[in-house]
Amino acid sequence: MRLFNCEVCGQLLYFENTQCMRCGATVGYLPGRNRLTALDPVEPDGGVVQATAEAGAQQQAMGDDAAAQAGTAAAAPQLWHPRAEPEALYRFCDNARHDACNWLVPEGGEGFCPACRYNRTIPDLSDPQHLAQWRKIEVAKRRAFYGFLRLGLPMSDRVDDPENGLAFDFLADAPDGSGKVMTGHDNGLITLALVEADDAERTRRRTAMGEPYRTLLGHFRHEAGHYFWDRLVRDGGRLEECRAVFGDDSQDYGAALQRHYEQGAAPDWQEHFVSTYATAHPWEDFAETWAHYLHIVDTLEMARAFGLGIDPRADRSGELTSEVDFDPYRATEIEPVMEAWVPLTAAVNSLNRCMGTPDLYPFVISPAVVAKLGFIQSLVHPPKPAAAPDSGD
Ligand SMILES: [Zn+2]
Ligand SMILES: [Zn+2]
Ligand SMILES: [Zn+2]
Repeated sequence: MRLFNCEVCGQLLYFENTQCMRCGATVGYLPGRNRLTALDPVEPDGGVVQATAEAGAQQQAMGDDAAAQAGTAAAAPQLWHPRAEPEALYRFCDNARHDACNWLVPEGGEGFCPACRYNRTIPDLSDPQHLAQWRKIEVAKRRAFYGFLRLGLPMSDRVDDPENGLAFDFLADAPDGSGKVMTGHDNGLITLALVEADDAERTRRRTAMGEPYRTLLGHFRHEAGHYFWDRLVRDGGRLEECRAVFGDDSQDYGAALQRHYEQGAAPDWQEHFVSTYATAHPWEDFAETWAHYLHIVDTLEMARAFGLGIDPRADRSGELTSEVDFDPYRATEIEPVMEAWVPLTAAVNSLNRCMGTPDLYPFVISPAVVAKLGFIQSLVHPPKPAAAPDSGD
C-alpha cells in the first residue's frame, strides 16, 4: 500500500480517507489511476446532475420493509471533478451511501466500483451490528483488491462468467443458531462469515485453531488465492509446474482436511510450509503462500512509502540491513523481496515486543517457502515472451 497527498493542500492521506484532515476537501480513490484524489463538487444548477435508476445488483439479506426503505432513499448522486482528472465526471460507488466504500466510478457507468461489483450478498443492514461488521469487511476487501489491481490480476464477475466468476457472500449466522456460516471458496464464490469481523470472536477462533495470525484481510487474500489458482494455474497451463512445487493436488481434498484436523501438522512442517494449515492439502498450501506473497509485497510497498531502511548497529554480519529501493509489486525476482522483507520483519516484530503486542509477522520463511513464493511471483508476473526477431523487411 502507498501513501497519498491531498492535491489541494499537500496533506498526507491514507487509503481509507474520505476527507482531507487539513483543508477539508472531500477525497475519493480512483482505482484506474491508483490515486486518492481531492474532489471538486459539480454544482447541481449546472444541469449536469441527473437521477440514475440504480436498482443495485447486490442482494441484501434484509426484510421487505428495510429493502423498500433503502429503495426510496436512492437520490441523484453528487457528481465530482477529481483533481487527478479535472475534466472527467465521477461519483462515489453505490456502497458509499452506507459509508462502506470511498472508491469513485465514472458517471454514467456501473454503480459499483471495481471492488464492490463482486459482492453478491451483503448482510441485512437494518441491524446496526451487521452494518458495523460489514464496514470492517469492506475495509479489508478494498485493501485486498488494491493488491489484485496493482498486480493486474484477471478477474471476471458472475455476469461475465456465471459458472466460475468471482463473487462474495458476506453472511451472518442464522439467529436461531441453526447453522454456522463457513468461510471458504467454491468455484469463484467466496463466502465470508460476518462474525469474523467481530474481534473477540475472531480471536477466539484463532486461539482455538492454534493460529498465530487471523485477520479479515488475510481471509480475503487466502480465499482469493483459491480463485486465482483456478485462473492462473488450472486454466493458465501451469498445473504441472505448480504440482512440482506444491505437490499433487489430485489427492482427496475432504479426506486430507479431515486428516489435518485429526492429526495436525508434522513436527518439521516449518521446513516446508508457511503455516500448519498449509500442510493440509496442496490447494491450501498454495492459498496460504499466495496470501503471504500479497502480505509481503503490500507491506514492503508501505515500508518504501515511509522511506524505511533497516541498519542495526548490533548486526555485525550485515544480514539484517535492508532498504526497499524497488517497487515490490513489480519485482520479478524473489531474492531481493526476501532480502528486504526478513530484516523489516525482525525490526517491526522487535518494536511490537517493546509494546507488548503480538509480532507483526509471526512466521518463519524457510528456503522451501521462498521457492514457493517465487513460483507465485512467476504466476503474477509471467515471463514476457522473447521479442520476435526482426524479420528485416
Ligand atoms: Zn487537503
Ligand atoms: Zn465500492
Ligand atoms: Zn483455503
